Amino acid sequence: MKVAIQGVAGSFHDIAARRFFETADAPLQLLECETFEQLADAVDSKRADAGMMAIENTLAGSILPNYALIQTYNLSVIGETYLQIRHNLLALRGQTIDDIQTVEAHPMAIIQCSEFLNRHPHIRVVEAFDTAGIAKKISAEKRRGVAAIAGYTAAELYDLEILAERLENNPKNFTRFLAVSRTPNPIDDLCNKASVSFRVSHARGSLADALLSLKQHHINLTKIQSLPVLGMPYEYTIHLDMTWEELPDYHAAIKDLAERTFELRVFGTYQAGEKNMEALGRARELPKPKPRLQPTTIHIDALPWQAWIAAPPRPIAKDYIIIAGPCSAETEKQTRDAAMQISSLGCVNVLRAGIWKPRTRAGGFEGAGVEGLKWLQRAKAATGMMTAVEVANAQHVEDCLRHGVDIVWIGARTTGNPFSVQEIADAVKGTTLGVMVKNPISPDLELWIGAFERLALAGVRKLVAIHRGFATGEKSDLRNAPTWSIPMQFRERLPHVPLICDPSHICGRRDKLASVAQKSLDLGAGGLMIESHPTPDEAWTDAKQQLTPRALGDLLNALSWQAQQDDALSNSDLNRLEALRGAIDRVDEEFLELLAARLNLVRDIGEYKRHHQLDVLQPARWKEVMERRLSLGGKLRLDAAFVAEMFERLHGESLKTQMAIVSSETLDGQMVAAK
Ligand code: PEP
Ligand code: MN
Repeated sequence: MKVAIQGVAGSFHDIAARRFFETADAPLQLLECETFEQLADAVDSKRADAGMMAIENTLAGSILPNYALIQTYNLSVIGETYLQIRHNLLALRGQTIDDIQTVEAHPMAIIQCSEFLNRHPHIRVVEAFDTAGIAKKISAEKRRGVAAIAGYTAAELYDLEILAERLENNPKNFTRFLAVSRTPNPIDDLCNKASVSFRVSHARGSLADALLSLKQHHINLTKIQSLPVLGMPYEYTIHLDMTWEELPDYHAAIKDLAERTFELRVFGTYQAGEKNMEALGRARELPKPKPRLQPTTIHIDALPWQAWIAAPPRPIAKDYIIIAGPCSAETEKQTRDAAMQISSLGCVNVLRAGIWKPRTRAGGFEGAGVEGLKWLQRAKAATGMMTAVEVANAQHVEDCLRHGVDIVWIGARTTGNPFSVQEIADAVKGTTLGVMVKNPISPDLELWIGAFERLALAGVRKLVAIHRGFATGEKSDLRNAPTWSIPMQFRERLPHVPLICDPSHICGRRDKLASVAQKSLDLGAGGLMIESHPTPDEAWTDAKQQLTPRALGDLLNALSWQAQQDDALSNSDLNRLEALRGAIDRVDEEFLELLAARLNLVRDIGEYKRHHQLDVLQPARWKEVMERRLSLGGKLRLDAAFVAEMFERLHGESLKTQMAIVSSETLDGQMVAAK
């Protein structure tokens, strides 16, 4: 069912529409309209099955023009719903009320929150078209200094911070909404309310007589409103809402009214909406977002890594962290050989080794444990390299501390568990350990950032993030999907935390390492963690993805390292330009490959649509796709208009491709016209 509302998703109209129309088996589709007139027109012209329209508010009064719209478009009122309106001040995260210079809000919201606005004279108030629409715009355009006045649902939907809650002058702030449609409800015993209008002559007492007749028929008036008649100055239409106990009373009252008035119109008979204010206030309270510490409220004050990770004797490229070592420390000899060979490359900052191994299935090699820490300690003494070990609990952290480990890392399986992350943060607190956090197995940016928040709250400042790919369930020749947009968003959100890539666990196979490593560097990774083993094919864990230290050296030398900022000392400007252009070329090649892959999927969908005789254009799906792309685009700081234009273009190409498929011969030999 398609319902027209004034405003956008997340608005009070949206909530009212869902409350009234949505059922478990009939999901609701919104038609967002900028004005009430457009709403009425959408219902009238059958672009929507029904509409939901605010008609009066307990603090701001009636919305008179809407009565006129119902009349002009000859709409039927099929029901009503009351909603408690709770207004909040919403803005981009990380701001306070003092940062807000302008509030943009609907005139109704401004009236309802006038006392709050008066208490904050530094905030300029600008009238705007709708409450949630402003919230959406602030979020999409990343407008700082501007706030919206809207509900909790809008805050959640558009990911805005609530700077102040419950701004309404009086908590008993309710809006009545009318459900409107082209055809009236049938009158039956369920109906106990009607909305009607009429005119009366100027004869003395004619209105009073009409109203008195309602009393005689035991009709209760819930609303009376006079509306000027267009083009007839000082003539009024009387609009009434009435309720009754017995349906025959209503029929009799209408008959009587018809005789005493003229131009009587019944806009609809319906079931009165629930409006017990107390009950509404408590039982129907809108869900509040759970109180949580906002990411931006926890400052993650990471040290520059150069301040705590030693430089190798022959760095491969200035300002990149290189970490290498075996997946697992297996024996003392293997650990020592790996350390010596990796150290002799001269370009590796940190030696890694797994000491406790998280295995998916029980019974595999679960790591050498504390014994392995002793091997690593001796390898460190022999090579002078810093060492890093994966930890999953407080005991592991203690053991590492006792054996001179410099850096611990939280593995992908552990990052996904906030209890464990908290335990590790508490154990590291007050020590000199550095902590690296791999992304969680699931593509969940918040969980990853959450781990850094826990460490930051424990006062840990030696921090590194490791991108190791995600389990997405998609079939691929890589072990874990890189989903590059997530590390890119991570860098947007936590720009001071150095982010490196672990191509070993993304690839799961050594022949892919170079291309994934290169791509990560092109996209701005600040270094690499690569598994390296003296005899990789014999490795006890992750044999397929490890490579010898010699092959590691070749791989590192073959990569194109972009000069990072302020690299003027080691690279001329020209070299830097060349490096950047090379990176652009590689990104463009990848881009074209992705376009081709997308079009292949489009063709498969086209075949499916042809087989099932579905329309090529699925507006709801397209709308959803566009919304999601715009939202991700916004998070990646891409211009919304640019993203929209690009996807419109892509969509056009997809439609063209699918039209050709659908209109080609169908299975049973008929032609199906593409719609
Ligand atoms: C590892 O680095 O050996 C490891 C187990 O990695 P991840 O946590 O990324 O799976
Ligand atoms: Mn491994």
